[in-house]
Amino acid sequence: MALRIENLSDTLRRIDGRGYKAYQDIRGEYIYTGPGLSFTLIVDHVQADPFAPPSRVRVRIPQQVAGFPQHYLESKIRRVALSDFLTRSFALAARGGARTRMSGSGLGSAEGAQAGAGAPIGGTGRSGQVSIARAGQEILERNSVLIDENMVEARFTVGLPAAGRRILGRAAQAIFLEFLPGIVARALIYKALPVETVDRHVKTAEDAEALRGMLGEKGLVAFIGNGAILPRRSGVDDRPLPAERAIPFSSPPSLEVEFDLPNRGRTRGMGIPEGVTLIVGGGYHGKSTLLRAIERGIYNHVPGDGRELVVTSPLAVKIRAEDGRAVTRTDISPFIKDLPLGGDTRSFSTENASGSTSQAANIMEALEVGAKVLLVDEDTSATNFMIRDRRMQALVAKEKEPITPFIDRVISLKESGVSTILVLGGSGDYFDVADTVIMMDEYRPVDVTAKAKDIALQFRTGRVNEADEDRPLPRPRIPVSLGLGDMEGRRSKVKAMGTDAIRLGHEEIDLSFVEQVVDDGQTRFIADALKYLGKHLVDGRSTIPELISRLWAVLERDGLDAVAPYVRGDYCMARPLEIAAALNRLRTLQVK
Ligand code: ADP
Ligand code: MG
Repeated sequence: MALRIENLSDTLRRIDGRGYKAYQDIRGEYIYTGPGLSFTLIVDHVQADPFAPPSRVRVRIPQQVAGFPQHYLESKIRRVALSDFLTRSFALAARGGARTRMSGSGLGSAEGAQAGAGAPIGGTGRSGQVSIARAGQEILERNSVLIDENMVEARFTVGLPAAGRRILGRAAQAIFLEFLPGIVARALIYKALPVETVDRHVKTAEDAEALRGMLGEKGLVAFIGNGAILPRRSGVDDRPLPAERAIPFSSPPSLEVEFDLPNRGRTRGMGIPEGVTLIVGGGYHGKSTLLRAIERGIYNHVPGDGRELVVTSPLAVKIRAEDGRAVTRTDISPFIKDLPLGGDTRSFSTENASGSTSQAANIMEALEVGAKVLLVDEDTSATNFMIRDRRMQALVAKEKEPITPFIDRVISLKESGVSTILVLGGSGDYFDVADTVIMMDEYRPVDVTAKAKDIALQFRTGRVNEADEDRPLPRPRIPVSLGLGDMEGRRSKVKAMGTDAIRLGHEEIDLSFVEQVVDDGQTRFIADALKYLGKHLVDGRSTIPELISRLWAVLERDGLDAVAPYVRGDYCMARPLEIAAALNRLRTLQVK
């Protein structure tokens, strides 16, 4: 039953100065009405003390008040982009309050996972912080703001203000009755927003999404628009390099293709065809930067990012060496056979994989859940996995070498419908197997396919292909249990550490080398999705791809909230491929 906002005000006056526990009394729903504004305020969870994770709160604004035009709600991508925009707009409005904030006493941003500290009030612990999930360069499906025909709902946290452990009731009144309505009025009401900026955000996402959908019909796996800015400010700053220092992308004529996008119209750029593509060139000429942009092209980017028109097949996966990872009964035999101390590599398990076995496992596990494009950079590959040249073949007999190098599998992968994009500066042996060779020359791509093919004829490698006839496609595995024990219960501890790791009870999953996880919200979602899989779906009969498609059916019906143990607004969508990647790195996974 919703109360009036005056009831909340009365409660806060009543508990002013009392111990923090009395804040529990404010849980519930309240209807706010003010001049030209009305919404429902929902306090879902009240923190136990000023230092605990802040309280979870929502506002729900009827569309009659919020006033978003119907055309923004018509397609999924538009709703996703609008929700992403409103999350940013809320964060900005919440930050706007920071200048009036009292100084001191631990007002640093909450865990770095949220942005927008800045209610009008200071105090102990997280007092006065109003925060919503932080959004980066990608436009992602989020549950921080939900939108449909009837309402807009924003989910955020509030650090309920206290001095020591004493409730600052007046400060809380200021947050709920003044600061928050101000945020709603500035950030979540269509008329108050910079309408052109909203429109650009939505249209940019829609164009990228449409483009991704059109790659296949042109036989492409990736597209890089002319004029794109690929380099980033730094390894820890994903914003674009300032325009005066970046060389914009421009396609070589032979690889240039044109698309007709719904908003932008005709758009030209470089198409990377299906098959085997090499990106070659001297050190520091921009090879890895191009590949990294392609990796991120599975996501849509915000206007001004520089990669708005860099778009990649949604089934493209970065593959790298990852020594030290755990592997559970993965068939790596297409790449690795006959290990020195025995061990069946058709069902290979280890607590501590080597560079080459980890890279083989990463490929086979990606294929198991439907990867169609492998993205490989020599910088992060195991050399002995990538190539074995003629001289080494002569010295070390094939019987003594467990590894079938990637170069000898790349063609049969292609024949199975799996393309590869490979950054390579060190070995020309790959010219024989490549369909397209792109040279980065001072950050400018040049099509050198014909030249590379001539060279391949002129200088024969003399290599012997070491692969057998088998197609390197895995047989899907059947998980028996995630091995999380009572973790699969409702109240067990699940925690995400940035984009790098997930903690599930006592288990930690290292995701730092799962490079296409880009947002903390994805890690949180993946963590709870795994828990959901363990609790509701793993049955000892279904394969990993079957389990994941069942999970997706639930997500499509109920959204990200489907896996949430309580109402929260800090998830972003991740692909099935990343969920599987996390599952595969779980050290307690048990497979039939
Ligand atoms: P490679 O992999 O060929 O050795 P990188 O992709 O690592 O080269 O790029 C080397 C450096 O050049 C990086 O610091 C990168 O940010 C910068 N860079 C890459 N592309 C561009 C560009 N188009 N304009 C300006 N700088 C760039
Ligand atoms: Mg490089």
